[in-house]
Amino acid sequence: MVDGLVEPPSRYTELNMNQSEINLLYPHKPVKGQIALVTGANSGIGEGVARHLSAAGATVAINYVVNPDSAQAIADDITANGGTAMITQADVSSEADVIRMYSEVIGKFGALDILINNAGLQRDSAIEAMTLAQWNTVIGINLTGQFLCAREAVKQFDKQVDRRVSTANGKIVCMSSVHQIIPWAGHLNYASSKGGIKLMMESLAQEVAPRKIRVNGIGPGAIKTPINKSAWDTPEAESKLLELIPYGRVGIVDDIGQAAVWLSSDASDYLVGTTLFVDGGMTLYPGFSTNG
Ligand code: NAD
Repeated sequence: MVDGLVEPPSRYTELNMNQSEINLLYPHKPVKGQIALVTGANSGIGEGVARHLSAAGATVAINYVVNPDSAQAIADDITANGGTAMITQADVSSEADVIRMYSEVIGKFGALDILINNAGLQRDSAIEAMTLAQWNTVIGINLTGQFLCAREAVKQFDKQVDRRVSTANGKIVCMSSVHQIIPWAGHLNYASSKGGIKLMMESLAQEVAPRKIRVNGIGPGAIKTPINKSAWDTPEAESKLLELIPYGRVGIVDDIGQAAVWLSSDASDYLVGTTLFVDGGMTLYPGFSTNG
């Protein structure tokens, strides 16, 4: 350690903050009284975002596709820590599932103010070995799933223009990736889905902003979650990953949770159609830091 410098706060060296620690971050409850749906919220970033939105005062609907027990455990923990949560099953790539999920959430909570379009996966392969099923699965969940969930959210926001729990009539946050701008060999389907999210998010933001619906994106860099465990779970893998991150640490879900709360709150009311990269500088092309 360099003399005079302190170790970074432990919360950024741990995998996750727990719900009672997260609750301390939002004394002013910036999304108080609002209702949020988070897709893919029984794992990783989605779980973290649901926990942060709850801590910030929102009632949260936790979507999952498989493993109801983990979704229920998160909902129970949120409730035990003073929040309100429900779980709702849906495959976001299925139109019928998404419509049913919205009727469950609106049926239980009566309204919706925030959609976090988060569910996503990878099915990696070199192009010559990539099957059409691998391509379609990733595009279907990562991109079409975000379209289906956003469409139902916009319909609901338009029905509740007198709700007045926020300056906007509704907020949508699309979980994209640094790979909406950084090409990624061996991951054609994933990078294409994230590039698609960029222009879907921006086009939707332009379309619905006059109706006071704000649509923005988050572009996470490398965040420690199950989706990329092999890239950070050994010291060798982590140190290789760190070569891509000027700030010198791998992200944790709380980094994204805090960004999602800000994007969902009136503090970001003038932000429309922007992707917030939360990436420790990964999009700064660190390969050029020593003159290329
Ligand atoms: P994760 O695997 O922990 O979580 C993904 C979640 O999506 C899981 O809950 C999974 O069950 C859910 N899901 C998958 N298919 C679904 C479907 N058909 N319907 C509903 N839910 C479905 O991974 P994560 O890292 O938390 O990823 C969350 C989002 O963040 C993804 O969109 C991912 O592309 C994005 N992202 C992650 C990173 C990272 O470094 N972890 C970086 C950039 C972007």
